[in-house]
Amino acid sequence: MNEFALIETYFNWSGSNLVNLGIGDDCAIIDIDANYQLVTSVDTLIEGVHFPINTSASDIAYKSLAVNLSDLAAMGARAKYFTLALTLPDINKKWLSQFSASLKSLADEFDIVLVGGDTTKGALSITINVTGVVEKNKALLRSSAQVGDLIFVSNTIGDAAYAWKQLQDKKTPSEYVINQFNRPKPQLFLGQKLSGIANACIDISDGLEQDLIHILTRSSVGASINLNDIPLGNEVKVYIKKTNDWCLILAGGDDYELCFTVPVKNMDLLKALQNKNNVTVTQIGVINNSMALTKIGSFDKQCCSYQHF
Ligand code: ADP
Ligand code: MG
Repeated sequence: MNEFALIETYFNWSGSNLVNLGIGDDCAIIDIDANYQLVTSVDTLIEGVHFPINTSASDIAYKSLAVNLSDLAAMGARAKYFTLALTLPDINKKWLSQFSASLKSLADEFDIVLVGGDTTKGALSITINVTGVVEKNKALLRSSAQVGDLIFVSNTIGDAAYAWKQLQDKKTPSEYVINQFNRPKPQLFLGQKLSGIANACIDISDGLEQDLIHILTRSSVGASINLNDIPLGNEVKVYIKKTNDWCLILAGGDDYELCFTVPVKNMDLLKALQNKNNVTVTQIGVINNSMALTKIGSFDKQCCSYQHF
């Protein structure tokens, strides 16, 4: 049983009237009043699973909040407040002051406030619950892709996975790729701007292929993507040319970029957004009615995205 089947079997209970959208998307949506909805998500980071042992306290803090903000970004939400459940093996004042300073600096950057949490002793793990707001019915969902939509991703894909691979191969990643791995930039600005332009959106946490398939499944559509159109950073480009290891791009994970679909009629709006603001998005494919994902390019292996079980 994988993690998705586990959630579906044991925890996907039917919702209440308050719950506009429950389990299954990047965030849940809760009705609060006639004009706004609360958007909420929780993610846990565990030492040795989500970050290597010996990652600095400030990088751990940054990533813990950033991956949660990324879920808000995927919904097109504005960040409001968060809670922090911290499990620590011991009290290390230096570690805590670095963790705290880095967390606060990212929180300030995205205007989100720490309102509570829980502190316990045990193996290092960090759980953050973020809450944001969206205008009523303006959230970007996984389930709204339409046949004919163009598929886009933000920035570049695969840098973080390349850094992780190099660490595992006992090599020293460049500052650029290790930074992409430790400090993924939450795409909140882009997510908010995409509301009204994109039909569907997800953040790429587990790998482009698996996360795009989440959009396809929940929207009951298919897609074709062209591998050669996926935007890659310079080092990753060289690596792919040498190895043809497209699994790093398709299933590597930890990108925290947005993957979204745009109807052709909104392309002018997207272009205006690109020209006016400093955002980089690249078309990688098209939504179709095939109910499957077709990958065009010189690679036909099956990749395994990260799953916890
Ligand atoms: P993401 O990768 O975007 O953080 P996940 O893959 O972790 O999302 O979760 C998918 C969906 O399942 C989300 O809606 C999440 O809230 C829900 N979910 C995950 N674990 C549980 C759980 N133990 N109980 C209830 N819902 C869960
Ligand atoms: Mg997500």
